[in-house]
Amino acid sequence: MDKEEALQFYKNYNEKCQAYELALKTMFFDMSTIAPVNGNDYCIQMMSLLSGELYDYMINPDHIDKLQQLHHMDLGEIINKDIQLSLKEVNKTALLPKDFYIKMQQTYTKGEVVWRQAKNANNYAMFKDCLKEIVAIKKQSYQYYGVKKTLYDDMLDDYETGMSIEKYDHFFNAIKNRLVPFVKKVMNEGIFIDDTPLHQNFEITKQEKVTELLKDYLHFQKENCYLGTTEHPFTTDFSLHDVRITTKYLENSLISSLFSIIHEYGHALYHLNMDESLAGLKVASSMTCGMHESQSRFLENYIGKRKSFWICLYPQIQKIFPKQLKDLSLDQFVQMINVSQPSLIRTEADELTYPLHILIRYELEKDMINGDVDFDHLDQLWADKYEQYLGIRPADAKSGILQDIHWSGGDFGYFPTYALGSAFAAQFFQEMNKDVDVDDVLAHHHFDVINDWLKEHIHRYGALYNANEMMQKVTHQDFDVNIYIDYLIEKYSCLYHIKESKE
Ligand SMILES: [Zn+2]
Repeated sequence: MDKEEALQFYKNYNEKCQAYELALKTMFFDMSTIAPVNGNDYCIQMMSLLSGELYDYMINPDHIDKLQQLHHMDLGEIINKDIQLSLKEVNKTALLPKDFYIKMQQTYTKGEVVWRQAKNANNYAMFKDCLKEIVAIKKQSYQYYGVKKTLYDDMLDDYETGMSIEKYDHFFNAIKNRLVPFVKKVMNEGIFIDDTPLHQNFEITKQEKVTELLKDYLHFQKENCYLGTTEHPFTTDFSLHDVRITTKYLENSLISSLFSIIHEYGHALYHLNMDESLAGLKVASSMTCGMHESQSRFLENYIGKRKSFWICLYPQIQKIFPKQLKDLSLDQFVQMINVSQPSLIRTEADELTYPLHILIRYELEKDMINGDVDFDHLDQLWADKYEQYLGIRPADAKSGILQDIHWSGGDFGYFPTYALGSAFAAQFFQEMNKDVDVDDVLAHHHFDVINDWLKEHIHRYGALYNANEMMQKVTHQDFDVNIYIDYLIEKYSCLYHIKESKE
């Protein structure tokens, strides 16, 4: 193949894959938002037919052979990277015997069903054997891929390229050594912040008016971005000009939906701000979990939880909810949105205690995959760790080991990226502060300046670089977990009137 033929082949190949994926994403989004529940079964059946076709197309030996040839040609930085990403995915799929692949998918599908039943019944014993099977088949799949380091190392690398047990151990040890005692200190010595005023009754029709204010403040790109509602908020990208996000309104919370929107919009901007030259390619949608989460958490915590973010917005929100908010000052409001309290449910955790929830899952996963774990008592092990790190113990499986869906679908190695993303964001934020007077632009309704910085330094590159490379490119230094921990300790010492001591 000469260069021109190679480029033509890749264009056709990639377009066909993207077409299938767009169809699958559209069906999934439709099912998650407006489709009547009784239509789900038929829709899932058709989706599995389409995924099967995509699978066959991708693992066609002729296509793999051509991709491998292309891999060694100079087709430009972007296309070369794209082919590298395609090959990584294809190789993974092709290395599994078809029978095994089907069995694995069935185990995960069954896993989710059993997990849901066990969670509803609040009974870990119902899920235990299934979890064992899931772990066993997950391990077996990595034997087919060929274990490069250790099983869990390879799984970590799959969710965040370049990460390993050694690096995560370093990361989580720092969290364990510095944040666990600090959280205890905040609980014992900090002032009491009562956030019940944010949990009065806030009519949803009025919350929707607040959403409009927020969208205006964020310069929400309404021609390219759709906002809907679902049980669990999420983001999905169809193209650089079509990203869908969702939120969920709670009558007893003013801020739950607002922060979901800010978080998901952080994910959305990663796609909306990408360079046009990446349109339609794999690099436009293959950012790692940690990098993606760094952008949503950046907006949610580092920008959205600042007082300056609310200077323009809060007085307008007070006008919408005069009865509930008239006596609540801006300073009190900002204190309340930042409240920290050890809790049992990860998805409801505050910014400070969140990484401890992830630390617990990381330690358990590592043992489940690489070590030897007593599955019969895993729920108790979980509870012990909550007691050790957060000082509270779940009374049941629903608020303990059965709360998250991830393990039921075979997602081991995924959780750590949540904490990592938050930490990446701290380092990006530190860098942004060198160029931008963040509080000044936020207080003057200039979110566009924040957006432009993110676009220029991070978003436009899509998945061209991995997290390490991005960190170097943006901050000119390696990732350093202490920037994140320093940020949290400084912020919460101030908020909770803790006397700073060098620990
Ligand atoms: Zn997210």
